[in-house]
Amino acid sequence: MFNERLREPERILIIDDSPSNARVVAEALRGQAEVHHASGERAALGMARSLKPDLILLDIAVPDRDGRAVYHALKAMPQLRDVPIICITGQDADDEQLQALGMDGADFLRQPLSVQETRARIQTHLTLQRKARLLERAAQDMSDMRRYFPVFIAYWNADLRNISCNDAEGCWFGLPAADMAGLHARDALGADNYRAMAEPLRQALAGSDALFESRFSRPDGEAWYGRVALISRGANVLMMSISDVTDDKRTQHALFDERERARVTLNALADAVIATDDDGRVTFLNPIAESLTGWQFDDALNQPVDKVLLLRNSQGRALPSPTHLALAERRTVGLALDCELQQRDGGLLAVVGRAAPVMDHAGRPGGAVVVFHDVSEARAMAVRMTHLAYHDALTNLPNRILLQDRLLQALQQAEQSGERLGLLMLDLDHFQLINDSMGHAVGDQLLQLVALRLQQGLRPGDTVSRQGGDEFIILMPGLGTIEQAGMLSEKLRRLVAEPFRLGESRYDLSASVGISLYPDDSRDADELYRHADAALYHAKQQGRNHCRFFSGEIEDALLTRQALERHFRMGAKQESFLVYYQPKVDVEDLSTVGVEALMRWRKEDGDILAPAEFIPLAEKTGLILPLGQLVLRQACLDGKRWHDAGCDLHVAVNVSAMQIAEAGFCEQLRATLKETGMAPDRLQLELTESVLARDVELTMAMLSELKSLGVSIAIDDFGTGYSSLSYLKSFPIDVLKIDQSFVRDMLSDTSSGAIVAAIVRMAQAMGLSLVAEGVESAEQAHALARQGVRIMQGFYYGKPMPVEEMDRRLS
Ligand code: C2E
Ligand code: CA
Ligand code: CA
Repeated sequence: MFNERLREPERILIIDDSPSNARVVAEALRGQAEVHHASGERAALGMARSLKPDLILLDIAVPDRDGRAVYHALKAMPQLRDVPIICITGQDADDEQLQALGMDGADFLRQPLSVQETRARIQTHLTLQRKARLLERAAQDMSDMRRYFPVFIAYWNADLRNISCNDAEGCWFGLPAADMAGLHARDALGADNYRAMAEPLRQALAGSDALFESRFSRPDGEAWYGRVALISRGANVLMMSISDVTDDKRTQHALFDERERARVTLNALADAVIATDDDGRVTFLNPIAESLTGWQFDDALNQPVDKVLLLRNSQGRALPSPTHLALAERRTVGLALDCELQQRDGGLLAVVGRAAPVMDHAGRPGGAVVVFHDVSEARAMAVRMTHLAYHDALTNLPNRILLQDRLLQALQQAEQSGERLGLLMLDLDHFQLINDSMGHAVGDQLLQLVALRLQQGLRPGDTVSRQGGDEFIILMPGLGTIEQAGMLSEKLRRLVAEPFRLGESRYDLSASVGISLYPDDSRDADELYRHADAALYHAKQQGRNHCRFFSGEIEDALLTRQALERHFRMGAKQESFLVYYQPKVDVEDLSTVGVEALMRWRKEDGDILAPAEFIPLAEKTGLILPLGQLVLRQACLDGKRWHDAGCDLHVAVNVSAMQIAEAGFCEQLRATLKETGMAPDRLQLELTESVLARDVELTMAMLSELKSLGVSIAIDDFGTGYSSLSYLKSFPIDVLKIDQSFVRDMLSDTSSGAIVAAIVRMAQAMGLSLVAEGVESAEQAHALARQGVRIMQGFYYGKPMPVEEMDRRLS
């Protein structure tokens, strides 16, 4: 609305030839308006045009001028059309004369003008003028309001007849307010529009206000949407307001359509889709997601997504939902590669998928969407394929590729740990005959049975693989001994040799086995294969149904070892292991002052083996312990016997380092002495230097303990080891045995002679007895005797002999 106070002072134009009227007017309006004066027709019209006065006073009582013409000229100007004109007439003009002038809308003032009347009349016109202007503006406002605030407002009486409405132009229902007045709502609004509101109208008349939206149509048929309020105003008046919400509705419908399209699309997808809000709570689940997770949409709604989409890795560890990462980092995030979905009922599915943030209108992540699908079958298929690539289809055993892989790994490990590793090639003998005579179906079944048996015969960690045909290769890592390899391959050979049953039929198979060993005979995978193959060839040559090692030495050693063990364990001790005795002679009177017990092994074929051929083996296998005890006991028994027969001699027994190291050796010795009745001071233990060279304190303790039993101690092979004089002095030793190598060379080699001389002097200085070993000739004996050695041992005085012979010699 415009502001009254900002209004400019009103302008009055007086058109008059004489100034007297103008003076009266100026007097009448002093301070209230601007008064302008014009005389002459032309000047008057020009001024009226430029001044745009609010009111014009026109003197028409001018004798030589047509006042009417000026009046009409003023009225003809568009900008002055609504400006009131007061005509000043002659004194005697009566009303009829004025009517006859035909100036519609003009007002008249008679001359002479009175100040009061003039003022009153002018003010009335100005006030009217102002009101007219206000009305005009209000009408403009209404029309603007209708245009910019589209609300239709109407009042109805109890019969639903229109009392009034604000739609002067009939924009809403095609009827201007004036025409609508008095009409029944059906006729005022149109039958269809009325029908849409009939029920709420009835209710509103009954007193309950209504607010609702309805679809309407314009007279031209175009549809629009209105929000309708029906409010009863007093007993018989109903106010109706309708605002146009067509635009809102369209947006809503578009949104709905968009949503629906998305919903149908998501539901039709073959992938599972889960949507969350920005807090990670579930807002949507499509049917596939329902079936994969086991969660119904209604249950899942608003749950934390981690609860519905329970992801774990293949080790069973829980994985965080990718939606959190997607939201936090505002990027698409893939599910872990080995991802599994734990279903609501506990089932597991392999899934792949991605999560992406959904940005809102402000560019912030307003939520996230996870899309995933079940790849359990594909993954299972991949596992099957991998298995097939590394296994033999017929027997399901590892194939050559997998074996090679494991062999290389095992070799690497063996290299680090120093362990032994065996590669066995096992080939069924004459299997082609079965294939040819019984058919391949039988052959295949037998191969499967063989595979099963071989697997049963293996240790955990071994690998049996089929190389095609009837050949199997077995990898045995971590073998302790060669023997173990022999035993295991024998076991496999025997397993194959046991009869097979297929239906009613019995099949007797046999296998040949070739064995190669790392590091004994092969340095790498290639050699292992070649050597096992060569060994297999030899096994076949040998007449099949055999196990062969690649290395002949290993083969022999193994056989010897097996025999040694067999003999010992079979309890055939007396016949297999013998004790020979070699005399020790005092050169002064050639009397036998002692004997040394030396072990012998009589093999099944009657051959007698010297210790060099089996003692290293016995030490390796630990058999030296029972063997050593056997010799000790036998020597004590014989010594006691000779002693009882009156022979004054000592019996010397060789004791290996391993025996000494064995806890309880002393105790065992004490018990043996007691059991046999042998006098301890008649027993001498021969220890090599290597036994003494170990831990000085331990050796000291051990020697003292032995000495406390009453036995004497000799150092065997003296001069060949690393004995230092310092500890020799402190150890409780009785005898030094000069090694036979010095005796053998002393006559030809001066340094050997010098060593013998030195040993003799040292023994004399330390008060130790001396024995010279390996004396083979009189010259040697003389030379030694000259140096001061009295006790000799050697072929010259007597070879090691069976106990019966020694008995004879002593008697
Ligand atoms: P050793 O203790 O030095 O035994 C002496 C070896 O020299 C014996 O060999 C003996 O036959 C041999 N010999 C004796 N006189 C002569 C000679 O004039 N010329 C030559 N060339 N050789 C002579 P044998 O019986 O073959 O024993 C060899 C080694 O076996 C022994 O050497 C000893 O270290 C070990 N040994 C023998 N019996 C046992 C036993 O019961 N227990 C243990 N732990 N070791 C034994
Ligand atoms: Ca000896
Ligand atoms: Ca010796």
